Amino acid sequence: MEIVGKYGKDDLAILYIAKMDNGQILEFVESTPPPIPREKKWVLIISTMFGCPIQCLMCDAGEYYNGNVSKEQMLEEIDFLIKSRFSDIKYIDVPKFKIQFARMGEPTLNDDVLEVIRELPSIYDAPGLMPCISTVAPRTAREFMERLLVIKDQLYSNGKFQLQFSIHSTNEEIRKEIMTSNIWTLEEIAEYGQRWFKEGDRKITLNFAVVKNYEIDPVTLRRIFDPEKYIIKITPINPTNKALENNLESAINEENEHYFPLVEELKKLGFETFISIGEWEENKIGTNCGQFATRSNKGQVEIKETYLTTQYKLN
Ligand code: SF4
Repeated sequence: MEIVGKYGKDDLAILYIAKMDNGQILEFVESTPPPIPREKKWVLIISTMFGCPIQCLMCDAGEYYNGNVSKEQMLEEIDFLIKSRFSDIKYIDVPKFKIQFARMGEPTLNDDVLEVIRELPSIYDAPGLMPCISTVAPRTAREFMERLLVIKDQLYSNGKFQLQFSIHSTNEEIRKEIMTSNIWTLEEIAEYGQRWFKEGDRKITLNFAVVKNYEIDPVTLRRIFDPEKYIIKITPINPTNKALENNLESAINEENEHYFPLVEELKKLGFETFISIGEWEENKIGTNCGQFATRSNKGQVEIKETYLTTQYKLN
């Protein structure tokens, strides 16, 4: 693996671009959510695919799909990020050490992700380790999800695993349009969540990347999902190539991020709800999920040169 790009702020997030031994480009990130210091909470976000076959309307990772990232390659991503901060890469003494399988790729379509999650506790001595899967819930991932449930109960009970479903709308037709037609319905997600959630587990996150005029009905959500078991996360639509091409306008922006009526409505219905913005600055430099790898894949970025000039660097 050769690191060919590095962008970001040391006290916030660093995005790495790597050329793997097979010549494919991978993106991965390590971040510290301010104001919490890295010693207390540290988040690694790794890619599970080279591109993505799901092709969500707002995501540049879906512009191509060149196969899955192997177990060894995922562990390489993790190892590299740990080495960048820790001299002893086997002992990570961070109370909240989250590894998110959520950068490029739909993790539930890569069985090696299960192997990585299963092996992590035997590779690292990390008392705060918490894997996180973020999924659109493809129908073809049923077996993966069943196996994941067993691994979670065996190795990550009592709140040591975070599961997130990308929902985006309460209208099933719109959900299919944004993601793919081959996904679980909200009812099917709720049925799985019912079996997933055990006492002491973290609430399951329902994520909405909010598109202007796309339906999100709090009452429908409340009817299907139990606020005792689910937490709602609202995120903006970033101006990726795909989002612009598909005319997706974010319902949340820098102007209204501090007051968004939907949040209040969901809270009234009992849902813990929060807005997760990330960095608006990322939009200007084009480091949102999949953007860089896609550009370089299309030959639009001379990676070495970009790295050397670091023209996109944040600080
Ligand atoms: S949002 Fe996730 S599932 Fe959708 S195309 Fe991007 S990487 Fe794939």
